[in-house]
Amino acid sequence: MHYFKFKGNTLYCENASVKKLAGEFGTPLYIYSQRTLMEHFVKLQKAFRSLDPLICYSVKVNSNLAIMKLLVSKGAGLDIVSGGELYRAKKAGCSAQKIVYASVGKTEQEIEDALLKGILMFNVESVTELQRINGIAIRCKKQCNVALRFNPGVDAKTHSYITTGKYENKFGMDEKIVKELILKRYKFANVNIVGIHMHIGSQITQSAPYVNAIKKVAKLFTELKKYGIHLSYFNIGGGLGIVYDKEKPQTAEAFAKKVIPLLKPLKVKVILEPGRFIVGNAGILVAKVLYIKETPKKRFVIVDAAMNDLIRPSLYGAYHNIEPITKNLKRKTKNSKLSDIVGPICESGDFLGKDRKIQVKEGEYISVFGSGAYAFSMSSTYNSRPRAAELLVDGSKIRCVRQRESYEDLIDKEKIS
Ligand code: PLP
Repeated sequence: MHYFKFKGNTLYCENASVKKLAGEFGTPLYIYSQRTLMEHFVKLQKAFRSLDPLICYSVKVNSNLAIMKLLVSKGAGLDIVSGGELYRAKKAGCSAQKIVYASVGKTEQEIEDALLKGILMFNVESVTELQRINGIAIRCKKQCNVALRFNPGVDAKTHSYITTGKYENKFGMDEKIVKELILKRYKFANVNIVGIHMHIGSQITQSAPYVNAIKKVAKLFTELKKYGIHLSYFNIGGGLGIVYDKEKPQTAEAFAKKVIPLLKPLKVKVILEPGRFIVGNAGILVAKVLYIKETPKKRFVIVDAAMNDLIRPSLYGAYHNIEPITKNLKRKTKNSKLSDIVGPICESGDFLGKDRKIQVKEGEYISVFGSGAYAFSMSSTYNSRPRAAELLVDGSKIRCVRQRESYEDLIDKEKIS
């Protein structure tokens, strides 16, 4: 579900013509629909209302301040993974008591900064990290909360690069270690172990892997009760999948119906860390067709967006629907060859789509749908290409929420001598 629709022949983002925006702001251009992302957030809120959870939007997914601020204003907390994201979280006006901090490699400086800001909790990924946090807390004369990240050893049936809950993944700790740490919690004087965290992967379309993982954690909660230990938080992570192509992901409501009965009896505060579900379909990347190149084997549609703008196709072989933003131009193609939609970067891995039935002419614009998540936030300046501009559309209101970078920006931090 999203608010990028054709009105007549022209693609609109809510009430704004994409062609007009591309003409005015240039390409490559990210355009986000505020209504789409807010409705997705509200869908989750409604589906889980009976648990009154804390929904911590996962900042890495799209860390534009305007988007973060919108979600924070609707009651979202934030899931962060670095000092930079903590900085953004504060700039977006998020209360420290709504920030949770994961990452397998938190530095001492990052831990100290987050500790002094008074975040809700660290999601701890290893024994030595827990010792490190405790040491820093003692030095700073502070007490802090942590959840232990539990690796449930489940296969989320998603791309191997975004699977995080299998034993061979670098994330979290196995049940034996988690239990041991909780039973020996008195060894960590300045750390309160208040909960369990899990995050089993991303773009998960079924509920079964969550159900399996939650059951494992529920068993652990029950066992701990025998020792008189009651943890107050259970963070079930993010991971809900969206439609890029022909996927049929569970709805927020269906997901909630499966997991709420498992979570309710635990009598804990539930935390969710969604990212892709909220912003994935709320963004498009608009590019201009520079050249059409016919070769004996292929037809290449060469556009002005590239892997530096959107790396998901190159990195994971991810599929994004790509369409011209103007329909029915009665285009005449010489042949029915399939096209690769590629960027100008000097890598054969620089593509946005492969073997597509697309009919476009040089000078036209295309839209790469599903570009709200892991898109701009993963962009770079490779090939010295300034990063794209980002627009946020709310009905007919257009806000440029990140200016296009300039050539000066590219060299801003460099020195010749
Ligand atoms: N929480 C953690 C710890 C993550 O690592 C991620 C993504 O990698 C997320 C939440 C967000 O995942 P998603 O965008 O699939 O909801």
